[in-house]
Amino acid sequence: MSRFRLYPTPAQQAALLGQCLHARYVWNLALEQWSMWTRDKGPTPGFPGQCRHLTEARAAFGWLRAGSQTVQQQALRDFDQAVKNFYAGTHQRPTWRKAGRHEGFRIVGGQASRWVKLNRKWAKVNVPKVGWVRFRLSQAVPEAKSYRITCDRAGRWHVAFAVVPPPIPAPGTGEVVGVDRGVTVSAALSTGELLTCPRLSGREQARLKHLQRCLARCRPGSNRRGRVKAAIAKLYARVTDRRKDWGEKTSTDLARRFDLIRVEDLRVKQLARRPKPKADPQRPGAYLPNRRRQKAGLNRGILANGWGLLVARLEHKAAGRVEKVKPAYTSQTCSVCGHCASENRESQAVFRCVACGHHANADVNAAVNIAAGRAVSARRETPVRVSSKREPQLATSA
Ligand SMILES: [Zn+2]
Repeated sequence: MSRFRLYPTPAQQAALLGQCLHARYVWNLALEQWSMWTRDKGPTPGFPGQCRHLTEARAAFGWLRAGSQTVQQQALRDFDQAVKNFYAGTHQRPTWRKAGRHEGFRIVGGQASRWVKLNRKWAKVNVPKVGWVRFRLSQAVPEAKSYRITCDRAGRWHVAFAVVPPPIPAPGTGEVVGVDRGVTVSAALSTGELLTCPRLSGREQARLKHLQRCLARCRPGSNRRGRVKAAIAKLYARVTDRRKDWGEKTSTDLARRFDLIRVEDLRVKQLARRPKPKADPQRPGAYLPNRRRQKAGLNRGILANGWGLLVARLEHKAAGRVEKVKPAYTSQTCSVCGHCASENRESQAVFRCVACGHHANADVNAAVNIAAGRAVSARRETPVRVSSKREPQLATSA
């Protein structure tokens, strides 16, 4: 994926949003058709059947006919892929697309290669039914068979050309690194480096809190509520950008410097779950405290550190050079003598071995254990089969 910031004029913005609306409408219609299936009905129409329905709908409704056929057909194609992914077990069930949240559409084929470089910093792309839209040339535009135009919650437009970049070659030094992911230190390396994922500053956090209180007092559907929501979305977009930037830079750096990268085999989604409610045995229907608020805080910490993102990107960039290690006891075992006891962990940050007296940063000690660790075989070794005609896709990792 090669993404550029798109700068449409207000008129073009309206046209782009119209295309997004068509794509969303067609997707939601396809989802409705798929989920309304019952045993007594015939087989659910697949992609070709739905395309025929789309042709009929376009003939019947002028507003749908006014939009681009490519955009609407690609929404059906996307949905078809989503259903296939769901049945293959790699993805969740397709969900409804919502205005303001899932804004985007795809252009394929010859139309996708209509872009012109204007000068050193700007280029323009010809979007069907919209016209030439300028985008910032932040990198070289790759040779791509399709692109996707999206609008995020903060109202920023992007164009992304679909290419899978080649993986980063190994340095060939034979060096191995262990990465321990944590909440206070985002990633500790076995070399002793402590890396922190940037977050919102204190002032930004205070502003976020203030805005959230404002939002709670706004009347639903009011203009003020819309403005406050946009301001909150902007802050969230900022922190997401920082996290992504950190993840990309860190993963590239690790892939360039080390031959083999070992990480703990954490299941971030399962880790960041809400705790189970604890039923009170004395009073039926009532519940005991289950430390839900504390867990919510920890979950926020886990998600704020971009653990999943870092490893996902590492697996793309250093393909075949990432090993997953069982995380059990890596934080309690001494990396020098191998003595394993919970007393070794003096505090959250300090590790002191009760057997040999080895003293180190607790996260670095864990990272050294991971670097020396035994590899757990990957859960999925055979790749999911894809048609040779399809766009290049990144390997799906469960
Ligand atoms: Zn020791």
